[in-house]
Amino acid sequence: MRCACCGMEILGQKFGPYQNNEYYCERCWYDPSLFFPDKPGKIIQRCTFKGPRLSNEELNLIEIIDLYRQQSINPNRAVSDIWEQVLGKQRIKIPAMRARQKNILLYFGKIKAYELLLLSAVDQWSDNDCEGYQRNQYNSKKREIKDYLQKCPIPLVPAILGSIKDGQFIPENGDCFGHLELPIIPGSIALLDGQQRTSGFEVVFQEFKEFIKNNGFDVDNGIIEQYYELFNFELPIVLINSIKISDKVRTEKKLPEDIDPTDIERAFFFIINKTQKAVNASLKDELAYKTISAGIRGIPVIEKELWRTEVVPIANSLNGEQGPLEGLINLGGVPGLKKPIQLNGFVTSLKSLFSNEHFTSLTAEKKREFLHAYWGMIREIIPETFDKESYNKFLLTKSIGIYSLNNLANDIFNHCLNRHVDPFLKENLRSYLYPLKNFDWSIETSPFAILAGKKGVKRAKEMMIELVKVAEVNEA
Ligand SMILES: [Zn+2]
Repeated sequence: MRCACCGMEILGQKFGPYQNNEYYCERCWYDPSLFFPDKPGKIIQRCTFKGPRLSNEELNLIEIIDLYRQQSINPNRAVSDIWEQVLGKQRIKIPAMRARQKNILLYFGKIKAYELLLLSAVDQWSDNDCEGYQRNQYNSKKREIKDYLQKCPIPLVPAILGSIKDGQFIPENGDCFGHLELPIIPGSIALLDGQQRTSGFEVVFQEFKEFIKNNGFDVDNGIIEQYYELFNFELPIVLINSIKISDKVRTEKKLPEDIDPTDIERAFFFIINKTQKAVNASLKDELAYKTISAGIRGIPVIEKELWRTEVVPIANSLNGEQGPLEGLINLGGVPGLKKPIQLNGFVTSLKSLFSNEHFTSLTAEKKREFLHAYWGMIREIIPETFDKESYNKFLLTKSIGIYSLNNLANDIFNHCLNRHVDPFLKENLRSYLYPLKNFDWSIETSPFAILAGKKGVKRAKEMMIELVKVAEVNEA
C-alpha cells in the first residue's frame, strides 16, 4: 500500500482510511503542516509535554493549538458545527467533581493550561467587544500575567469559570467524583471568568513558538522544560452547562420561555465580575507591603507601584507610639475607628517625594527620618490639629490637608538640599514650616474648605508653597 501523500510504500504504521479510501504513512501523518481530522484526538492522547526535547507529537500539538487559538475570540457557532462535522465526536477527559446549587449543576475540575488553550474561547457578550475597551491595556495585562507565571515563585492561579454547551459527566466511585468529557473543538469552553489568566498562558505559548523558531528544539539548558511546566500547569476550573440550565429553568417556568444559554452566561459573567467587592485600598497597601517584606516578588499589581510598599512601614511608624501621627492613620480601612487619615491616601500623596531622585537614593531609615522630622515639626507648630479631642475642627488631617502637606514635603526636601541644610534635623525645618501656624486650618473658615478634587489639591499645594516662600523672604 502506498501513502496518498508522498507516494512511498507504507512500511510502518498506516493512518486511515480517509476520503477515497486513502491511507498515509507515519512520516506524512506526523508532518505538523498537514492536518487530519483524527489528529487532534490522537495527538492529545499521546502528547504530554514531558521533554526534555520536542517530540513529533508535541510539535503537532503546538500546530493544533495555534490553529484552535485562531477561533478563540467570538467563535462562530456555524464554524464550530463544521469543526465538529470534520473532527467527529472526539473528546478530552478532565477529572471533575459534581455539585448542586439549587437549579445548577456545577463541575469542579482541573484542566491543563494547554488543554484550556485548545478548548476555551471568549463569547460575544464578554467585555472584549464592548466599545471603549482599551486594547493596549488589555495587552499589557496579558504580559503582566505571563511575567507573574514565569517570575513569581508561588504563582497561584485561582479557578477559571466556564460554560460548556456539550459535555458529559461520567461518575466513578459513586455519584460525585468522576470525569468530564468535552468535545475537542474550538470554543468547547466559553470563558465567563478567566479570560486574562488564559491569555497569560497564550502569551507564554506564543513566546515558546517564537523561541523554537529561533533556537530549534535541541536547546538543552532547561528552557524547554520551563515552558513545559507552564503548559502542564493545572488550573482549577468550574464549569456549568448553560444549555442544561436554560432548559431547566424554562421547563420549570422559573424564567421566560425565550431565555437562552447566552442569557444565562451573561448573567453569570455579571455576577462574577461586577459584584465582588474589592479589597479596601488601605488594606491592599498593607497587604502588599507584608507580601514584599516576606520576599515574595513578581505579583504584577504590587510590582507596578513598588514605591508604595516603601511608604507603608514609614506610615506605620509615624502612626505608632510617640510618632507624630500617633493613632491618626487608619491602616486597614476599617470604618468607625475615629482615625481621620486613610493610609491609602497618605501613601498616594507621597508620590512626588518618592519619585524624587535625591530622595529615592536614600536608605529606608533616612527616608523614615525625614518624614518623622517633617511631620514632627508640623505637629509641634500646630499641635491642636493633631489632638484626638480637636482634630475634627481642622482640615489638616482631612484629605486636602494630607495631600497638600505631603506634596509640600517634596518641595521642602529639595529646598533643604539646595541650601545645604540638613533635612533630617527636625529643628532645621522649623523656619520653613512655621508659617503653617498662621494658616487658617478651621473646617469652617479655611480657604481649603471650598477646594475639592484634584484641582483643589493642586491649588492647596500652591498655597502651601506660597507660605513657604514667605518664610524664605523673612529669613533673608
Ligand atoms: Zn507519506
